[in-house]
Amino acid sequence: MNLPEKLLQSLEAIKGFDREAFEKVHASGEQVTSIRINPQKLSEASQVPSTGGHLGEAVPWTEYGYYLNQRPSFTFDPLFHAGCYYVQEASSMFLEQAFKQTVDLSRRLRILDLSAAPGGKSTHIQSLISKDSLLVSNEVIRSRANILKDNIAKWGSDNVIVTNNDPKSFARLENYFDAIIVDAPCSGSGLFRRDEKAIDEWSENNVHLCSQRQQRILADVWSALKRNGVLIYSTCSYSNEENENIVQWMTAELPIAHCPLPIDNSWGIIETENGYRFWPDQVKGEGFFIACMRKLGGEDKVEIKVKKKIEIVSKKEMEVVKYWIKATDHQFLKIGNVVYAVPKGLSTDIDFLLSNLQIIYFGTMVGELVRDKLIPAHALAMSNLISDHVERIELNYEQAIDYLKKKDLREINGDKGWKLVTYKNYPLGWINILSNRINNYYPRELRILKDI
Ligand code: SAM
Repeated sequence: MNLPEKLLQSLEAIKGFDREAFEKVHASGEQVTSIRINPQKLSEASQVPSTGGHLGEAVPWTEYGYYLNQRPSFTFDPLFHAGCYYVQEASSMFLEQAFKQTVDLSRRLRILDLSAAPGGKSTHIQSLISKDSLLVSNEVIRSRANILKDNIAKWGSDNVIVTNNDPKSFARLENYFDAIIVDAPCSGSGLFRRDEKAIDEWSENNVHLCSQRQQRILADVWSALKRNGVLIYSTCSYSNEENENIVQWMTAELPIAHCPLPIDNSWGIIETENGYRFWPDQVKGEGFFIACMRKLGGEDKVEIKVKKKIEIVSKKEMEVVKYWIKATDHQFLKIGNVVYAVPKGLSTDIDFLLSNLQIIYFGTMVGELVRDKLIPAHALAMSNLISDHVERIELNYEQAIDYLKKKDLREINGDKGWKLVTYKNYPLGWINILSNRINNYYPRELRILKDI
């Protein structure tokens, strides 16, 4: 692996950098695989992954992360598709420490994850916040925002709104958020060990362009953070220009205080002048930088003006919806004929955000009302909202893979009607049994395309 000499030289002066060990770990070909479990779905981490790799030791800075002793084919693990876990690089899971040590997670919070696709940090934050908190998970690139939406729905979240906005749009939401995470687009050197091709794309000029873009992004969202709110900034770059220098620039330009995060020395994380560095020769994870800052100025009052309210599902329609849903503390909203469930207390925020942002998903999509019936949505199958009355059919491994490939299902017996198919009791999606065939309702865009 030919690491760019200019990069290596630029790292010489940074705390914790050990050129020999750094080059050695890149040359070793060693790959670290880790997953983060979904506490909303899994009671025991040992159940995943259900095929291939074995769960190894816990990632020490999070309650939910585990290393795997071997990398399995996640594509062919039905529990991956059931949203039981997320495959995520271990260093990034340190976000949990940043949140736990700076934010009171027992409170009702409004959080923005500004650069959220494909959803690693957002699904993690969702597991940390209270049920009545709201996470706005944003991605500026539309195709990536759709992937984010799929991952949020798969996680079974109901208190997340997925938006597709440029960072500038958030300037309208003055003092609205208690915490903002900017996991910035960067030059990506921290992932060289994973993706050797990224080495060819690295240049000093790109580091410089990324650094300018990072400043623009931070300046754009600053006003959306309330007084005493927390800004968490992270990158997967090693370059000073995209890390400590950005925090330094913020400290010089804006009223902020750096938030120190106590860390355990055995973790191997290096504290620099204003952030935390993950060197892959010292931690079991990839290159990563994170810093936490508190906003000192500004206001903590937010003006929520609602221009237009989303329609509430009528009593009559609720009679249809009720069959599918557990008795929950949710409100049911409707756009066209599509019904969404949101935790009670969040609908005003959703109305407010709908008039200010490009929302592409919110709450849990329950399904579409067609005459006096509901066609259940895939997101409902992924959620914890489904009523126990809804019939389930357990699939064996081969049937589960056929289902996830959206193939025709045979050898399944059951009465006519909608059934939730499960693998090891974890829901995978819907089928509809008709008199002469079974319709597979697994979303086409999510289906497994390759063969084992
Ligand atoms: N937070 C994500 C996660 O944990 O899965 C990874 C985010 S990735 C490091 C950075 C994201 O920033 C990408 O999804 C990229 O599309 C997005 N991005 C690109 N240009 C951007 C811009 N000008 N403003 C905000 N985000 C941008």
